[in-house]
Amino acid sequence: MKTNIKNVALEELGDRVVQWGYPRFHARQIFSWLYQKNALEFMDMSNIPSSLRSKLIDNYHCSETKVAEIFESSDGTKKLLLALYENERIEAALISAEKRITGCLSSQVGCRFSCAFCASGSKGFTRNLSSGQILDEVVYLKRCAPKRLLTHVVFMGMGEPFDNYENVLKAVRIINADYGFHIGARRITISTCGIPEGIRRLARENLQVELSVSLHAVDDATRSKLMPVNRKYPLNELFAAIGEYVKTTNRQVTFEYVVVDGINNGLNDATKLQTLLKGLNCKVNLIPYNPVEASRLKAPSLGNIKEFKGFLERRGITVTVRKSRGQDIDAACGQLRMRYEN
Ligand code: SAH
Repeated sequence: MKTNIKNVALEELGDRVVQWGYPRFHARQIFSWLYQKNALEFMDMSNIPSSLRSKLIDNYHCSETKVAEIFESSDGTKKLLLALYENERIEAALISAEKRITGCLSSQVGCRFSCAFCASGSKGFTRNLSSGQILDEVVYLKRCAPKRLLTHVVFMGMGEPFDNYENVLKAVRIINADYGFHIGARRITISTCGIPEGIRRLARENLQVELSVSLHAVDDATRSKLMPVNRKYPLNELFAAIGEYVKTTNRQVTFEYVVVDGINNGLNDATKLQTLLKGLNCKVNLIPYNPVEASRLKAPSLGNIKEFKGFLERRGITVTVRKSRGQDIDAACGQLRMRYEN
């Protein structure tokens, strides 16, 4: 059975190339085609001997996914709907701002965690993406990006990265490596719904990647309603793991907080949030809820977001508000796939 060449580590490909009777340096050249020149076909690898290219074609897929559709928002955000061989769909988005071009990646087809505000979990979980399939997403995004430059990567598309820990970390290492996409670790963000074991494992990786935790509520009752994962890992367990992470890595954690009108947007919530985060090296990213079809939740007003933000800032917490991007192309997680499957 042919495998995706992007699942193969540099060492391993080098061994294979040598086994076939070619010098090892060709493995680095192939990596450069895959991750710097964003090649989709082995045939395009013009400095690789044609007999070696034929070997590659016989043994590997150069890419395992195809672009099914590209949507472009009026604000420049692009959303790619990618088709896997099994005819499943995943989404990847490209968000361009003044100084950065961010790729938003999916880590799974579907999601097990069914957060109330998120479209990705509404159709349940299908399966994990391989590291190669995650890297395919990056290639396609780079091919869409101005000057093919991607400065940042975030795991904020479909799926829960810590529910597919090994493949995500394998992909992160190639995204980061100088022989891979060469994106600095501090420009790679892993966003989790709050799985303590994943947070502890990441702390031990000795990687400088950014950790985002989707918090969204400050008491167990509200959080369990919005995020069923909280029933398994309540706030005290989650914060124990985050505390250890900050202590071990000395790194700041970002808390994502989707603001939903009438659910978590009161000043009493802001007060509890301040208490919860006291003394922790962190910042807060407020995300105005982006309404999803078939959900009864409501978006907050701009005034409310401002008030919530100001309240926290006056108490010394660093707060940013995420601009909603690509709304006209359903850029909120999983919405595009949902429309496709409906
Ligand atoms: N499973 C991971 C990553 C995927 S979701 C996690 O939970 O963090 C990425 C971010 O988008 C999360 O913070 C998530 O809560 C947020 N999000 C999902 N649906 C949204 C919506 N409809 N409006 C605003 N933010 C949303």
